[in-house]
Amino acid sequence: MTSKKIVLHFPQRLVDQPIVYKLVKEFDLQFNILKASVTPQEEGLMVLELVGKKENFDKGVEYLKSCGVKIEPLSKDVVRDEHKCTSCGVCVPVCPTGALSVDTKSRKINFDNKKCIACEICVKICPPRAMEVRF
Ligand code: SF4
Ligand code: SF4
Repeated sequence: MTSKKIVLHFPQRLVDQPIVYKLVKEFDLQFNILKASVTPQEEGLMVLELVGKKENFDKGVEYLKSCGVKIEPLSKDVVRDEHKCTSCGVCVPVCPTGALSVDTKSRKINFDNKKCIACEICVKICPPRAMEVRF
């Protein structure tokens, strides 16, 4: 099984096409949309986590390319320095994917790396600079 996060750039002509749906139907891939900004008049952008057999993953990526979708790997990671984090919560409302959330019992801030799309919003606003970019 392969699991990868990729960034898709759709040209305007493909924005309303069911391209991602075909990844499931024809290549037996599961996907998790981590971020999508698609408007009818502009290029669309989508960050996906794709999961499936490696050969299917490769075929799916080739299919996307053949449709005219530009693909980039999500090659950086955002990590948290647990010693610096004060659980102040400033990062929670700005995180677009819910990767940062409040633990209702302990009131600590949870960081779910699997949901993180490395947008770096939290990196810029974290007061003690606990969130860091790793390449
Ligand atoms: S903003 Fe920084 S210090 Fe505050 S909870 Fe988020 S990671 Fe922790
Ligand atoms: S970089 Fe920060 S704000 Fe962006 S998705 Fe990851 S945890 Fe959320």
